[in-house]
Amino acid sequence: MQTTLADAFRNTPEGEVVERILRSCVHCGFCLATCPTYLVLGNELDSPRGRIYLMKQVFEGATPTAKTRLHLDRCLTCRNCETTCPSGVEYGRLLDIGRHIVEERVGRGFVESITRAALKTALGTPSLFNTALKLGQCVRGLMPATLKQRIPPADDAGVWPAPRHARRMLVLEGCVQPGLKPNINAATARVLDRLQISLVAVAEAGCCGALAHHLNDSDAGLASARRNIDAWLPHLDAGAEAIVMTASGCGVMVKDYGRLLRNDPAYAEKAARVSAATKDISEILLAEREALKPLTAHRSPLAPRRIAYHPPCTLQHGQKLTGGVEALLTDVGFELVPVAEKHLCCGAAGTYSILQPDIAGQLKTRKLEHLSAGEPELIATANIGCLTHLQSDSSIPVQHWIELLDNALSPSWRDRPRPPSSATRAIGA
Ligand code: SF4
Ligand code: SF4
Repeated sequence: MQTTLADAFRNTPEGEVVERILRSCVHCGFCLATCPTYLVLGNELDSPRGRIYLMKQVFEGATPTAKTRLHLDRCLTCRNCETTCPSGVEYGRLLDIGRHIVEERVGRGFVESITRAALKTALGTPSLFNTALKLGQCVRGLMPATLKQRIPPADDAGVWPAPRHARRMLVLEGCVQPGLKPNINAATARVLDRLQISLVAVAEAGCCGALAHHLNDSDAGLASARRNIDAWLPHLDAGAEAIVMTASGCGVMVKDYGRLLRNDPAYAEKAARVSAATKDISEILLAEREALKPLTAHRSPLAPRRIAYHPPCTLQHGQKLTGGVEALLTDVGFELVPVAEKHLCCGAAGTYSILQPDIAGQLKTRKLEHLSAGEPELIATANIGCLTHLQSDSSIPVQHWIELLDNALSPSWRDRPRPPSSATRAIGA
């Protein structure tokens, strides 16, 4: 795509990135067919190609408007378009820069600004979020159904084995996950403990920074990154093998620390080290696949449990990890039912489901129809955002896949009662 950048961007580091990305787009439109917002809204300006055009105009000197920002806000940052694009257009990087520029030049109203600031603070501060969640869970029974859907009941974490092995890995606990689903990290610790690996959470680490980053507050996002790097590096120096991610939305952010801090002389090298050590739990277990096999080999074959798996966008498009979770679940005896449109976003997308509820709701309904079509007993996914978003409207239980794997490795699991037939369930019931 021919591009002539405005003086403000020409010969700047950001301008060079923008120019290279804009020139790589050949305007073919292949990405439109896989863009969730284009499928829902049918407007070219809510497609990757349309948004690239809008950003190009701004980088060439046009004044952005509230309409420009609306179409950029409506993007889920799912990066499905990157997977589809035959020309390798780095849409996500372009959007990061474009959103930042537009945010600086087009002010938001009072209510919108307060809402975004409140989301950043409440969701990015585990102590605040957990207190609010506990209060909500106490009065959940008195709430109207629509509000009740949004507050899951308290969850039991089970046992997190004490560190006892020579092999150690770190885990990012996450902001909302320990409050909403404490069993996810505990299940990860139990699975790794069976593989003679101890999983350790470092108290000084906190939010990965993705929330602030995607709400266009890159300074706050980078501050979180630096704090986590300072917290984890001494443990990597002391022999921890990896930093394990159990939420793919956090994983894609931490794996990007190296690129985001590449121009910071004090952190560039340290950030690259942390990113290189960061692995999704599926990557860790695929590397340990041979060691996992004997853990199930001595048992009788597992009765098939029909699972519908939803791969989060941050795993399949952001981290480019596909097929690993399915292989691990199949190894331990689960039957994965076919699911249409696996590549499409469920609408959760961080704070998107709160800020763009109509589009997010339509995408959730579409996703749940596909996930339930094969009458699964359970829906599995790999990101807390997708899990809570889907569960809020699904009568089929939604779990993190590592919990299923942990259950499958537990001797008592096969004796647990099976859930009722999914044939009697309906979405939204
Ligand atoms: S598929 Fe790629 S090259 Fe084609 S219009 Fe979309 S972003 Fe541009
Ligand atoms: S990131 Fe997702 S929603 Fe945004 S333009 Fe690309 S495909 Fe569409």
